[in-house]
Amino acid sequence: ECAWHLSRFFFQISCLNFYCKRRQKVDKYLYHLRLSDETLMDVSVRFRREMDKGLCRDTNSTAAVKMLPTFVRSTPDGTEKGSFLALDLGGSNFRVLLVKVSVNGKQKVEMENQIYAIPEDLMRGNGSELFDHIADCLANFLDNLGIKNKKLPLGFTFSFPCQQTELDESILVSWTKGFKASGVEGKDVVSLLRKAIKKRGDFDIDIVAVINDTVGTMMTCGYDDHHCEIGLIVGTGTNACYMEEMRNLELVEGDEGRMCVNMEWGAFGDDGALEDLRTDFDLEIDAGSLNPGKQLFEKMISGMYMGELVRLILVKMAKEKLLFQGQTTPDLLTTGHFITSYVFAIENDKDKEGLESAEQVLQSLGLNPSVEDCIATQRVCQIVSTRAAHLCAATLVAVLRQIRDNKAAERLRTTIGVDGSVYKNHPQFARRLHKMVRRLVPDCDVRFLRSQDGSGKGAAMVTAVAYRLATQHAERQRILDTLRLSHEQLLEVKKRMGDEMVRGLSKQHHKQASVRMLPSYVRSTPDGTEHGDFLALDLGGTNFRVLLVRVRSGKRRSVEMHNKIYGIPQETMQGTGEELFDHIVYCIADFLEYMGMKGASLPLGFTFSFPCHQTKLDQGILLKWTKGFRASGCEGEDVVMLLKDAIHRREEFDLDVVAVVNDTVGTMMTCGYEDPRCEVGLIVGTGTNACYMEEMQNVEMVEGDEGRMCVNMEWGAFGDHGELDDVCTEFDRIVDDCSNNPGKQRYEKMISGMYLGEIVRNVLLEFTAKGLLFRGKLSERLKTRGIFETKFLSQIESDRLALRQVRSILQHLGLTSSTCDDSILVKEVCSVVARRAAQLCGAGLAAVVDKIRLNRKLEHLRITVGVDGTLYKLHPHFSGIMKETVRALSPQCEVTFLQSEDGSGKGAALITAVACRIRH
Ligand code: ADP
Ligand code: MG
Repeated sequence: ECAWHLSRFFFQISCLNFYCKRRQKVDKYLYHLRLSDETLMDVSVRFRREMDKGLCRDTNSTAAVKMLPTFVRSTPDGTEKGSFLALDLGGSNFRVLLVKVSVNGKQKVEMENQIYAIPEDLMRGNGSELFDHIADCLANFLDNLGIKNKKLPLGFTFSFPCQQTELDESILVSWTKGFKASGVEGKDVVSLLRKAIKKRGDFDIDIVAVINDTVGTMMTCGYDDHHCEIGLIVGTGTNACYMEEMRNLELVEGDEGRMCVNMEWGAFGDDGALEDLRTDFDLEIDAGSLNPGKQLFEKMISGMYMGELVRLILVKMAKEKLLFQGQTTPDLLTTGHFITSYVFAIENDKDKEGLESAEQVLQSLGLNPSVEDCIATQRVCQIVSTRAAHLCAATLVAVLRQIRDNKAAERLRTTIGVDGSVYKNHPQFARRLHKMVRRLVPDCDVRFLRSQDGSGKGAAMVTAVAYRLATQHAERQRILDTLRLSHEQLLEVKKRMGDEMVRGLSKQHHKQASVRMLPSYVRSTPDGTEHGDFLALDLGGTNFRVLLVRVRSGKRRSVEMHNKIYGIPQETMQGTGEELFDHIVYCIADFLEYMGMKGASLPLGFTFSFPCHQTKLDQGILLKWTKGFRASGCEGEDVVMLLKDAIHRREEFDLDVVAVVNDTVGTMMTCGYEDPRCEVGLIVGTGTNACYMEEMQNVEMVEGDEGRMCVNMEWGAFGDHGELDDVCTEFDRIVDDCSNNPGKQRYEKMISGMYLGEIVRNVLLEFTAKGLLFRGKLSERLKTRGIFETKFLSQIESDRLALRQVRSILQHLGLTSSTCDDSILVKEVCSVVARRAAQLCGAGLAAVVDKIRLNRKLEHLRITVGVDGTLYKLHPHFSGIMKETVRALSPQCEVTFLQSEDGSGKGAALITAVACRIRH
């Protein structure tokens, strides 16, 4: 028995040896069909170039890989629901389907489907008869299910080359696969179908989408796996689609979001790009095909050609006496007699099944194969199908890299939905494809998901997604519309602001006006003759600063500034008034010493950005501390006196406090120094406020009718008496309710930096709660007040920013599960909120400039507005929209905007300088 085992062992060894030799012989012979990793990488790079060529407007017309837009802009998110019809024409059967998608707790898809025959004479007859037949089949299907009276949405899988122009408009380029119906090529197949249905008149449906089968595959898998963004088919033919960024898709208008691109990659190589890799066998296949010179990549890969490739190789090897002892048979010599499913059977690696199949197949072709022949045939099949899998991997890798670059992700995690007989039925193809993809892009986590009935279910899915998008879009727009203001509404805001201004100025109504119109006692803007050294203090902005400002007049006209920032300790801000002002004077002393001017006595301007009641230029009664200041004994007191007292206590220097200045006034004066037309000051930063030069005769709170005076409007409080109630939204009310000063500064709360982010956050919350964003998932972060800073509005709306950067901002905000669609929506919300802010601000400003124009009884006014504030300066669209609004609402004014540099420092000094000039 032992000897028997031993001899059997040696027999197996020699078999193996023989087997290997056989294989080596075939391998050597088919050297050109075996592609190294380097070659595959090179193919991948070439294909990426082809993709680019197809995507670019200029090169698309000559590109082999057409990269057709599909108008499918979104993949399923799992919240789709409803009943949808689908038609599938162009696959192996013509079918009508009813697909029910439900979300009750768990995603579920139910399908009913019915296969209908299409008689040969209709395939090649009159086009309108073909579509009548399709309508008949549809009617029959609806009848059978008793749903003829429901107007259901329908998706149409039409697997022929089409030029798509809309989701529901697709123009047949040319028939393939045995169809040749007249009058259809060059026509929109959706209109043809609609016409046929209308002609019957017994039912109605809503045709929503026409799709290609690759798209159906992606969408079907996308329902189960939301990462799915590639669809791949390796069946009779081969093709793939993927979600491309709109900005790369030059053939379609718009830069936002993504769109599925049907690559039609079977045509790769049609322009010669694969010449060096095509073997004599490939040339022969092509020459004998129905479409020579076309679909060259497909011909190296797909099921339609795989068996034929093997046959051609076997014939050649037989003729060279490498196989079948040089014999051929009529069957072996006949095109199409080695069918592709033979390859699947022969490559079965279970036990000896593959070799047995090889023997059977060869025998059925009339051959009398030896074991050697069977092994060699199996090897030929392996080489042909491996090349197909590897080529497919190479092109897929190009797509993966494109997506990864689009997302700027270091690692890409993605899913590919796959369909097709070669992928599904060949025993090794899928494994080889996966392995090679992972080898060529080790830094991508790729999941392959088999699609179940992509062309049927897929069309329904596209329709379901389109329906969901349309419904959600309408719902979102309804909410956003409350934040959109019409021209008439803005005109009304302008008018009410004008009314409030008049009330604020009048002695009689001043007390009841929401806009307080505080006189600033600044009566003149700079004329350029100011000169001298001035000190300025800036308290109430982001920092406390002391400044020395040198103003020169004449030829050397200039302003030179030196400043030092000082901290104000928390305990000083909230201690006694004496401590606060002693600290301020200490800082002045330190600054003078630092400048080498110890003990100097200079005129001083005091920018004090808190609400003050002024009765003269050098007096300001503090009405109320804000912004975290709480020092005792100051409210109701004159801050100039408080400062002077502190100076006297220190007994080190004397200062002539000439002016108390509000920052808007400082801004106007700073710009006024550059441009004498500047008679308005505007601030849009943390808060918002404005000032302008009013006629003294209108400033009823101050004696005298001569000349003008700058009025600090304190316009942030506009709306506090209900003037904005009809433009306020629920979001404004929430932001107001949650603020430190409910009911106050209502206009400011719709405009300024402190609040815009909060408005956006509240809209996002509402969207999410309604399932219109972030797939309805409310994150803890989003619920946190203040996380959405206004600077994010600027960043997100920056034109240079790609969507993936928006996404990374959202990620930074802890909104990690956001999708591309989410990014587009967030951007839209930001833009609507910022636009409204800019328009409201513009409406207020329009009231101001028109009032100035009417004061002066002018037909036409040219005026400059000096502006400061980070929101105005850094937001990419705020200033543009504001200008546009002013122009639209006050067409008789020509308004120039000038950005102020350090209005609160320089401005205070200039006011002091002007006051000193006038004094002299
Ligand atoms: P203040 O109004 O206190 O003098 P700023 O004019 O500097 O200060 O405005 C600061 C405000 O500007 C911040 O509170 C913030 O809301 C807003 N902001 C900051 N950065 C940006 C940005 N990049 N885009 C828009 N707004 C911004
Ligand atoms: Mg400021």
